[in-house]
Amino acid sequence: MESRLIAGRTVREWKSAYPLIEDLMLMNEVFWNNPNYRSFKEGIKNKSISEKDVRDAEERLLRFAPYLAKVFPETQNGVIESPLVEISNFHSRLGSTFHKSLEGTLMLKCDNELPISGSIKARGGIYEVLKHAEDLALQHGMLDFKDDYSIIAGHEFKEFFSRYSIAVGSTGNLGLSIGIISAQLGFKVTVHMSADAKQWKKDLLRSKGVTVVEHNSDYSKAVEEGRKQSDADPASYFVDDENSTNLFLGYAVAASRFKKQLDQKKIKIDQEHPLFVYLPCGVGGGPGGVAYGLKLIFKDAVHCFFAEPTHSPCMLLGLLTELHDQVSVQDFGIDNLTAADGLAVGRPSGFVGKTLEQLLSGVYTIDDSMLYMLLSLLADSEKIRVEPSAAAGLYGPIQLCSQAGQDYILEKGLRDKMDNAVHISWATGGNMVPEEIMEEYYTLGKTQLKHFLDV
Ligand SMILES: *Cc1c(COP(=O)(O)O)cnc(C)c1O
Repeated sequence: MESRLIAGRTVREWKSAYPLIEDLMLMNEVFWNNPNYRSFKEGIKNKSISEKDVRDAEERLLRFAPYLAKVFPETQNGVIESPLVEISNFHSRLGSTFHKSLEGTLMLKCDNELPISGSIKARGGIYEVLKHAEDLALQHGMLDFKDDYSIIAGHEFKEFFSRYSIAVGSTGNLGLSIGIISAQLGFKVTVHMSADAKQWKKDLLRSKGVTVVEHNSDYSKAVEEGRKQSDADPASYFVDDENSTNLFLGYAVAASRFKKQLDQKKIKIDQEHPLFVYLPCGVGGGPGGVAYGLKLIFKDAVHCFFAEPTHSPCMLLGLLTELHDQVSVQDFGIDNLTAADGLAVGRPSGFVGKTLEQLLSGVYTIDDSMLYMLLSLLADSEKIRVEPSAAAGLYGPIQLCSQAGQDYILEKGLRDKMDNAVHISWATGGNMVPEEIMEEYYTLGKTQLKHFLDV
């Protein structure tokens, strides 16, 4: 492997240029303070996605609310949104477990509770399918912007959409989200699953009439295969997790709603009251869209960090080397094997990496055993259950205590503001996980935690 070239350099040359790569290859936990981070004003320059685009997505979702309210009564009047809760018990347990004195307030953004598909994918995935459905219906004169969109629940629309197909490649959660909404609208839908996708997710989708194609390969290959098959059929629309602006916009809508939740709780965010947000990252669209939306609103007052498994640090590798989607973790001998199925991605989205390269504060990695520990700590202290991927964001306050994390705080002049800081762990999934599987995760976490505290 040493002699193989990655973008013209050997692994040894990459390591000497970026010493952090050594730790990544050893699958050690790291904290990367982004050297390309810029002020909002500079970082947002020449970006193709504007505030207006995000507002447009928000308005589209409002148009669909009467439809969603009708077919998914578990939504809040057709709005797919999650609670924001303070987790002070967890915060103090976290500090005592790791022997850190943690400042500020810690809150959980509970996308684990999002209706319809129980993960952050209910934002981007559902938005993209609705957008496509609207485009088709408008083109065929079946719908007008001014209509009450609840008519879409009618037989005539289902019949119309059944002439079209939707396809997607997924490690599981995106498949759930795209599969459920597409089947509900009446589309023929095919989900291409990577080898690591959980059996219960495939079973659930099949029970809803979704065609599930199982691949013996990882996420990137499943996407590639799905794209190829879909492109061969003109009536098929491919949801491109790696490059889709629409997915990104669906995720970005989270920010303005989150702002309203903070306002309702009278929580102020400004230069004196910084906001830290920790987002679990797979291919990048979900955390990227949310972070972009947050930057548009809070600008320099928000500091966004992505969290990746030590075995799948694809976004970190892409940003660090500036190779984005031209590099995979496998190129560096990293195996992309992790229990965090939503995060088991070896090659990042180039679109997201390039969009966020000057706006993202940093990336940290987390060991799988730590995911389970944090999952069980959260369950014990707050009675909230999340899936392993979602637990990655809970590690943010601890990782910020690392040397590189403290360097970030000093460099940005935040040291004396940390008492006022609000930390948000974005819990990206959980409530679709069957009870007995969640119990296994929890028990495993308890065991890991015991070992951790014993040594
Ligand atoms: C998909 C997913 C993520 C990450 O989203 P990406 O768009 O792949 O970066 C995080 N957590 C969970 C639970 C997910 O399903």
